[in-house]
Amino acid sequence: MGGRDLCVLCANNEVTKRAYRVLSEAGALHTEAIYTFSSPLFQGWNNLIGRLLARMGKKNEPKLYELPFESHGSVDEMLHLMLTYRKEGLILLPITTDFLTAYLIYSISKGHGPFYSNIYSPHFTLGLAKFVSPMIRTSALELAGVGEIRFNIGDDEFDTIYMWVLSELNDNSELLFTAPTSITLFSVKERCLNCGSSLVNGRCKFCEI
Ligand SMILES: [Zn+2]
Repeated sequence: MGGRDLCVLCANNEVTKRAYRVLSEAGALHTEAIYTFSSPLFQGWNNLIGRLLARMGKKNEPKLYELPFESHGSVDEMLHLMLTYRKEGLILLPITTDFLTAYLIYSISKGHGPFYSNIYSPHFTLGLAKFVSPMIRTSALELAGVGEIRFNIGDDEFDTIYMWVLSELNDNSELLFTAPTSITLFSVKERCLNCGSSLVNGRCKFCEI
């Protein structure tokens, strides 16, 4: 875990600690209602997040509301739908380090195009909605006994890259820490105010504004 060998118990504590830090920084622990997505595209996510909040103790346990979610397009379309699903409130994103690494490789291989750079921040706001990613510093492989998350976005190109990243991470944990820092490669100057995507020729492909 992060290049260290930990037993299941310590690994679970480390995952919880990282998530707690993000949620606490984002002010999520003092929020009464938290929204989370429930979808076959990322199986296990809502169970995982429920368990993580429970591990943080009753005192800190906000009410969790599940938003049923579906998307049938590319990973960019999925991100667009997620980021525009609710216009207000605190919404948890199913973002893990392996997902970010795969999305970075996917976006580089695609060349220019819409790119959601703000998902590389642990928390950010779009209008009245606040997005928080408690698992942003953890990979799916580090979850051990806390739970499981399986991404199957239905975007063949992304899913292939994602599976490759997972297999590489088994032997190369440094890769995990590369993605969030490589993000400086993308200097996004203009972003869509509605969904946060980078603008291409001054336009957002998905919001049509
Ligand atoms: Zn947009």
